Amino acid sequence: MAKKENSEKISPKTRKLLRAIPKVDEFLDWVGSSTPAPLRLIKNEIRSLLAAERKTILAGEKRLVADLSREKLLPVFHKRLARRLESNFRTVINATGVVVHTNLGRSLLPEKAMASIQQVGSRYANLEFNLTSGKRGSRYQLVENLLCELTGAEAALVVNNNAAAVLLVLETLAKDQEVIVSRGQLVEIGGSFRIPDVMAKSGAKMIEVGATNRTHLFDYEQAITPESAMLLKVHTSNFRVIGFTSEVELNELVALGREHGLLVMEDLGSGCLLDLSPYGLPREPTVGEVIKAGVDVVTFSGDKLLGGPQAGLIIGKKRIIEQVKQNPLNRALRIDKFTLAGLEAVLRLYYDDQKALSTIPTLEMMTMPLEKISRRATRLARRIKKKLSPRCEVKTTATFSRVGGGAMPEHGLASRAVILAPGDRTVNELEQQLRDAPLPVITRIENDYLLLDMRTVSNDEVAQLGDCLLAAFAEKIKE
Ligand SMILES: *Cc1c(COP(=O)(O)O)cnc(C)c1O
Repeated sequence: MAKKENSEKISPKTRKLLRAIPKVDEFLDWVGSSTPAPLRLIKNEIRSLLAAERKTILAGEKRLVADLSREKLLPVFHKRLARRLESNFRTVINATGVVVHTNLGRSLLPEKAMASIQQVGSRYANLEFNLTSGKRGSRYQLVENLLCELTGAEAALVVNNNAAAVLLVLETLAKDQEVIVSRGQLVEIGGSFRIPDVMAKSGAKMIEVGATNRTHLFDYEQAITPESAMLLKVHTSNFRVIGFTSEVELNELVALGREHGLLVMEDLGSGCLLDLSPYGLPREPTVGEVIKAGVDVVTFSGDKLLGGPQAGLIIGKKRIIEQVKQNPLNRALRIDKFTLAGLEAVLRLYYDDQKALSTIPTLEMMTMPLEKISRRATRLARRIKKKLSPRCEVKTTATFSRVGGGAMPEHGLASRAVILAPGDRTVNELEQQLRDAPLPVITRIENDYLLLDMRTVSNDEVAQLGDCLLAAFAEKIKE
């Protein structure tokens, strides 16, 4: 019945086209047995290709019987199959100049960390086994001493990420109680982390004090009630309030907390272990300085300025950290062995400041001398300039990179870029073409130029990047 209704609506021409679509088995014969792909994937791709053809025909789009021939369809199939055989996780070249680029994986890990991850993945290890007692051990012990030594904290714990760290600490210490926080610090971080929302999920009651631009000590003081559990300070990370502003200093908050028997917590966000101001970066309190100010508990990310793997670090007073460790929610936010292995290796590099700066890619890129970036820009421009002339203008220029990851938002790092102005396609077309290439290149568009900031392109990538650009111009622009 349904079939009859359908066929009544279909024109004879369309019916003829539909009949010309090859059957799956027939197509399988065309593909043959030499195609190096699992049969299941080949069949799925054939079905999806034929379904797409059917849909196109039924939609009344222009098609000829010849378009459904082996000669026409087989190359399309092979192209689609090749895409399916590639890993979904692709290596890209980051030419945006954003060092801690959250969408591109934040921090790159040092070689030592990668070696450690490789090792722990392929061999058994003492993840939760105390080799001295022969009994069950704690995975946190693998990094706790290191974190304490590097920051001066009494105890430490690590979880999946900083969002988890904030949630876990609030849930442990302030559930069903009040947490006092400045209105100027109710930050939203990319990817839907908002302080008020996390607070609500933890079961703590948020008490906002002060105004957006100014919060004073008396604002906190007046809000204290018998229900208060904690004074919370949040690093504003990705925004700055400028002009007529005032924030309460951490040591004042600590003193107020002591006076009233309240806990003091700081969500530091990026959390830098080193002072980077000697390298021209803004002065930020280091994690060690925050601990020294007497805060009870501090949380920060593993993969922002620290330059390690994704993790949430929780450090502070022993009594407090023990409570957090006991929380059953901790089990759900548990850090995995690869992350722990990478994190330990990165933390070890911090025993020597100079070593940290030269071997941790995030720190190395943030503090990279301008001359070094300029040399890379010149090298890239030389490789491509003659070959692309006169189709594309190629120049080097001064630009500013960003730290990224919500850190130091208003600070531009003086950098050097190669800029391209194609004559045979638009800048937007070129941007898309590079993004869509076998080795995708992620770029910026500025003032009608395609801009490649060389701070985040490693020395080894310069030649590859040159090849990507030449390949893009060797390809004719589609449509
Ligand atoms: C980035 C950030 C977070 C979230 O950290 P993740 O490691 O991305 O989960 C939380 N708070 C602040 C202040 C941040 O800057």
